[in-house]
Amino acid sequence: MRFQVTPLGTGAALPARGRSPSAQVINANEDLYLIDCGEGTQERLRMAAFNFQRIGHIFISHLHGDHYLGVMGLISTMHLLGRDRELHIHAPQELKAIIDLQLQASGTWLRYPLRFYATRVENGAVLWSDAHVEVTALALKHRLPTTGFLFRQRPAPRTLRKESVHLIPHFRRNAIKAGEDLVREDGTIVPNAELTSDPPPPLRYAYCSDTAYNTDLIPHLHGVDLLYHEATFTEHLAARARETLHSTARQAATIARDAEVGQLLLGHFSSRYKDVRPLLEEAVAVFPATRAADEGCTYPIQRSIVQNS
Ligand SMILES: [Zn+2]
Repeated sequence: MRFQVTPLGTGAALPARGRSPSAQVINANEDLYLIDCGEGTQERLRMAAFNFQRIGHIFISHLHGDHYLGVMGLISTMHLLGRDRELHIHAPQELKAIIDLQLQASGTWLRYPLRFYATRVENGAVLWSDAHVEVTALALKHRLPTTGFLFRQRPAPRTLRKESVHLIPHFRRNAIKAGEDLVREDGTIVPNAELTSDPPPPLRYAYCSDTAYNTDLIPHLHGVDLLYHEATFTEHLAARARETLHSTARQAATIARDAEVGQLLLGHFSSRYKDVRPLLEEAVAVFPATRAADEGCTYPIQRSIVQNS
């Protein structure tokens, strides 16, 4: 099953040359989930050749403009493209009134159903679940109520043990992989545990932007395969980070290290950094398995082979 993330915008509040405001696409088995939707996200979706109609869900972390001002444009374009598939929006409650007012003012009746779900800033709250993923909330610490998102792949079917495969009639294999016992022709029962073993644990991806350094997140992020964490500033501006409830690159790496995640992806860079190397170097010193997110680049969400300590 495909499970990957493509950051489309890695900039902080102000536009920076070559960097766009927050947005990223999760591809889970060819269904697309958009996280945040800063201004201009639809052009970047086009540039990266994403099919708009595959986007079933938009998750908005908070209502600072650099995280949601592209929503209205994207909703309108989907309408103009003749979308009929429903679109689910998960966001702070106030966004509903903003969308409704804009649709009303332009006399637009969307051709497709728009489903709105108010997010809650509460660790572990289930926001959505379907055949591909389960999405739960992370309580971030920012100037506005802000939700991070934890995407967990649906568990894979149980794995048939090599030595038992010959016992199972072909037509029963899916049921056995789903956990059922095997009833033999003579009525004897072979328990599932003798036929199958546990599948690998589901892969997990966490999105934490925007947030101050927040150690409360550590147990909720423990062992995730890929963590995207904002790194707005370097340590030189730690006071500014504290004041604006953002994180430094070192703080992002400290969270990654303490939560024993597989890999760290940095983003939400302040426009003052033309080159992100100082941010990356600062993080790598604390947590080596770190990369600075590149816009338009796709990162697989996979189990890292080397465990970090
Ligand atoms: Zn913000």
